Amino acid sequence: MTQYKIPMSSPDLNDADRQAVIDVINTPNLSMGKWTPAFEKTFCDLTGAKHAIAVNSGTAGLHLCVRAAGIGAGDLVITTPFSFVASSNVMLFENAIPIFVDVDPRTGNLDPELVADAAKNIENYLPRTVEPKHASALRAILPVDVFGQPADMDAINAVAKEHGLRVIEDSCEALGAMYKGKHAGTLGEFGVFAFYPNKQITTGEGGVIITNNDEAAHFMRAMRNQGRAPGDTWLQHTHLGYNYRIDEMSAAMGTTQMSRLGEIMAKREQVAGWYEARLSEIEGVEIPFVESFTTKSSWFVYVIRFDKKINRDEIAKRLDARGIPVRPYFLPIHLQPYIAKQFGYKEGDFPVTEDLGKRGLAIPFSGIMTEEQVDQVCNIIREEIMNF
Ligand SMILES: *Cc1c(COP(=O)(O)O)cnc(C)c1O
Repeated sequence: MTQYKIPMSSPDLNDADRQAVIDVINTPNLSMGKWTPAFEKTFCDLTGAKHAIAVNSGTAGLHLCVRAAGIGAGDLVITTPFSFVASSNVMLFENAIPIFVDVDPRTGNLDPELVADAAKNIENYLPRTVEPKHASALRAILPVDVFGQPADMDAINAVAKEHGLRVIEDSCEALGAMYKGKHAGTLGEFGVFAFYPNKQITTGEGGVIITNNDEAAHFMRAMRNQGRAPGDTWLQHTHLGYNYRIDEMSAAMGTTQMSRLGEIMAKREQVAGWYEARLSEIEGVEIPFVESFTTKSSWFVYVIRFDKKINRDEIAKRLDARGIPVRPYFLPIHLQPYIAKQFGYKEGDFPVTEDLGKRGLAIPFSGIMTEEQVDQVCNIIREEIMNF
């Protein structure tokens, strides 16, 4: 095992966050107490959304959105193969079919022109193993705000409007990011955030859904709570539901983290700036591209790309051996074994996604990295590239 000099990512926790958890465990109310609604309110305050529903993971949040949008067996949903698998898995949970379209080579976000073409000519975009007679209607678009940068939501919403589609924005990597001055997560009908320890804020595990749709919000609150509708007693269940509740320790910690979101984001932006200043001078290394409509990136991870002549996997091995943890980002979803098998995908099906997947490498990143640590990472990258 390599002894790493610097962690891949670190949560940005302080004494107030730790004290919040201790205060909860000194009470008997470890679930369904006052902290869950308090945590939810911070999301309504931040984004202006009418409803926020806290759940126990981002994946659970996306799944409830799929259910609330009425997406079911055989339904088609346009989404991206350049993402974390959860954004497609939530369709598969319901036997719906993710329809992949390729991404913008600069940002890795859905290419809106391909989204428009797919919505018009959906039969050309069906996976190999899906016969048109088994496919139901195109129902929704699920864009992902990749690496903390919103997708081109105006263009995507225009396609959705033209074709009568629901929009679920996966903002699990983009809490606090802004698109043309508007919060990520508010740009579709539903937005979802996630709080695994490598995200901008963490609750250990957790997620939040935001929406302005009253009926959907009531349904999702019932579905996260074993299907109990308002008025149901503890052992009365109107729906077949899930246990997707967040616990009070997580909600309390999330509430204190949210009160510092501005500070947490400013620190991440500063670290990204340190990286940019150093890495933009290294030949063969491409730094992240920020779109003009991204009025704020929330810097989820720092992913660099290497020129084609540099073998990413070999460089990754050398960096790892020198104590710098790195991670290929992302392995395309359509090539994940279970998806490739179910839908008959092959290498070459989504060339931009595959190219980004082959050349991209996430390097150590968090808001608590020091400038010296950034220097250390960049110096080792520079040396290894010069020796390549
Ligand atoms: C983190 C993440 C999720 C949700 O992850 P959980 O671990 O379930 O909280 C969903 N989509 C994307 C793109 C993510 O990065």
